[in-house]
Amino acid sequence: MPRRFNLKNNEVQKCANCSHEFVGNYCPYCSQKAGLGRVTWKSLRNNVMLLWGMDSSSLLNSIINLLLRPGYFIRDYISGHRQVSFPPLKMLVIVGVFIALMEFLFFPGSAESNEINVGVAIVDNVVEWLHTHNDWATLLVTSFFIWPTWLLFRKAPGYPRHTIPEGFFIQVFMCIIQLIFDFVTRNDSIGTWCLIVYFYIAYRQIFEYKPWGTIWRVALMFISGFVLLVLAATLFAAIGYLITGERTM
Ligand SMILES: [Zn+2]
Repeated sequence: MPRRFNLKNNEVQKCANCSHEFVGNYCPYCSQKAGLGRVTWKSLRNNVMLLWGMDSSSLLNSIINLLLRPGYFIRDYISGHRQVSFPPLKMLVIVGVFIALMEFLFFPGSAESNEINVGVAIVDNVVEWLHTHNDWATLLVTSFFIWPTWLLFRKAPGYPRHTIPEGFFIQVFMCIIQLIFDFVTRNDSIGTWCLIVYFYIAYRQIFEYKPWGTIWRVALMFISGFVLLVLAATLFAAIGYLITGERTM
């Protein structure tokens, strides 16, 4: 459930940013928070807290909520309670960078283990780029689930008629979950199974189909998503081959 909001102070105050006089928690002209003035040790601490843990829409709090109650959290966000979450795409990038850093520090060498070489220069370049940008690569894969999700879940009792942009944000959140699982389980098949279970939990909480209704829809969503992914990859490789005209090996 979204948190409740209360008015901190009923006095007229002057905005430190634009000098507009107002009553309330935020300036209605420039949206700066009330009570802010010069940068102090307290505001420095508050800024760090806001990013890392104490505020309810902080990064850490958002990740914990996403892992504990994925579907309810995602549904709150896409249905308009934006303040419940740290901005999702920013969260994806920060989690991606953080995990890449952890990989580099604690598991050096694991990145070179699975090189793919198709032999078409443009394709190999893209594959190599995706290999070093785990966050965007994972999002590219999960984005193939947007359309199947829309087709299979658009008449859902819990959240009917979700839109494609809402579907995109569902996949951004699922992508963050996948990055965390891949890192924690060391890309093992256990990670994949955890993710499948999480898709089930999340979709059940968002769309509220009954257990079997959710299971067959999630299964069909995965299968059609991967078929689309393979088709797109084949098409891309074929176009790359036509453009470059030759194989490099
Ligand atoms: Zn202002």
